[in-house]
Amino acid sequence: MSSALDTLRRDFGGDIIEPGAAGYERAARTVLVAGRPAFVLRPKSAGDVAAGVSFAASSGLVVSVRGGGHSFAGFGTSDGGVVLDLGQLADVAVIGQERHVVRIGGGATWGPVADVLAGHGLAISSGDTRSVGVGGLTLGGGIGWKVRKYGLALDSVIAAEVVTASGGIVRASAQQNPELWWALRGGGGNFGVVTAFEFVAHPATQVFFGTIAFPPAQAAGVLAGWADYLRTAPEDLTSTVEFANPFAGGPDAPVAAHVAFDGDDARAAAAAIGPIRALGTVIADDVTLTPYPDTLAAGVTPPPGIQLVTRSGFADRESVPEVLRILAEAGASQRPPAISVRSVSGAVSRVPGDATAYPHRQAELMFVTTIAGPGPAVEGARPALDALWARLAPHTSGAYANFLTSATEQDIAAIYPARTYQRLAAVKRHYDPGNLFTRNHNVRPG
Ligand SMILES: Cc1cc2nc3c(=O)[nH]c(=O)nc-3n(C[C@H](O)[C@H](O)[C@H](O)COP(=O)(O)OP(=O)(O)OC[C@H]3O[C@@H](n4cnc5c(N)ncnc54)[C@H](O)[C@@H]3O)c2cc1C
Repeated sequence: MSSALDTLRRDFGGDIIEPGAAGYERAARTVLVAGRPAFVLRPKSAGDVAAGVSFAASSGLVVSVRGGGHSFAGFGTSDGGVVLDLGQLADVAVIGQERHVVRIGGGATWGPVADVLAGHGLAISSGDTRSVGVGGLTLGGGIGWKVRKYGLALDSVIAAEVVTASGGIVRASAQQNPELWWALRGGGGNFGVVTAFEFVAHPATQVFFGTIAFPPAQAAGVLAGWADYLRTAPEDLTSTVEFANPFAGGPDAPVAAHVAFDGDDARAAAAAIGPIRALGTVIADDVTLTPYPDTLAAGVTPPPGIQLVTRSGFADRESVPEVLRILAEAGASQRPPAISVRSVSGAVSRVPGDATAYPHRQAELMFVTTIAGPGPAVEGARPALDALWARLAPHTSGAYANFLTSATEQDIAAIYPARTYQRLAAVKRHYDPGNLFTRNHNVRPG
């Protein structure tokens, strides 16, 4: 270990933070999860990342790669391992003005990216939160406010620069290392450290954005009508419904339909959003024309000791009515989880199922349940949550890796159907045969 550490100190140009050092406590934890890693390495270049990966490989310690640090499973830290915190690899540069090609550092977060791109009249559909990382969100999917129009965040990626387990730096694109290129888009952090992504951005428009709220008693009808409407709604419109939020009254919380209409044409927006307003008794409506960067919410770090359990699933067209019925019932129960349902069809479903390692292309909806609180409260709520998911199980197809606290074999089988998994395992064998990168929804070398 000591010679590996000497080599690291010689080759690594970034910061090496060890327990006891100033800033360690902050560096050790992610946004959602505490940890006590032996080393937090903050690389400043791809070469530093390569030195960090080589150190981690020779030290035998568990490696965590941290982009924005928002993994629900806490993959961005560990107890006793090495964290590669990419936060200083956050440059955003337009490198191809004509085709809107943008290079973004693997440790960037979406808020600053949206701000910089807006200055160039560009945007990328990412997620809903400023502090979420480009790395984790993109490698797992990326369901954002323009998902029905432009697809997942990973659908806009055209290349990536990757430090692999051997410490080599490779480029992955349709032309170079195409199997790695396929695997990165959906396969998470399994294949190496992405030091930079190249995206094709979209022209930035303002967005009619806001929330239309309905009484909780109307949840079942609003949800059913919303899903029916989204099936044929203009793809400029993306929408999410949230209900049973424990911080807004649990079963008494309003049903909040968030809408994002991409474009500043007020009449077109009103026509597209109108059918959602007509779904029930509107008790609040704050939809206004908003610059795209302002649609992204500031992230929140939960207070110490608060745990989260987040689970996700997809619903295909035929399962939608039953899934929504079960979720509406759960939302009205005594201590429900927070429930959110996102529309994911449109442009997502037009990409062929095997074009990327994200396999859930035919789903109409992605839904998420979250319970949060001190450990004993979370454990107390778990049996009801398990019972809810047992009811949902016959109607769900798969899980969204980016909204999962757990990483069991069952979760991995839900994220990756057998064919996808086998292909990923072959790529893993090539690029990470020793399974150095395990702090993710892990694919074992085939
Ligand atoms: C408040 C909040 C809001 C969210 N909103 C959305 C949303 O609207 N849409 C959506 O789709 N998802 C959303 N998510 C889920 C989010 O996509 C995942 O939590 C994602 O993993 C976060 O990425 P990160 O880089 O911040 O996380 P990290 O914890 O840093 O990383 C997560 C995983 O990705 C890997 N990874 C990260 N960066 C790299 C890299 N550069 N190279 C290789 N591997 C890397 C890590 O090793 C780890 O396995 C949200 C999460 C939170 C907490």
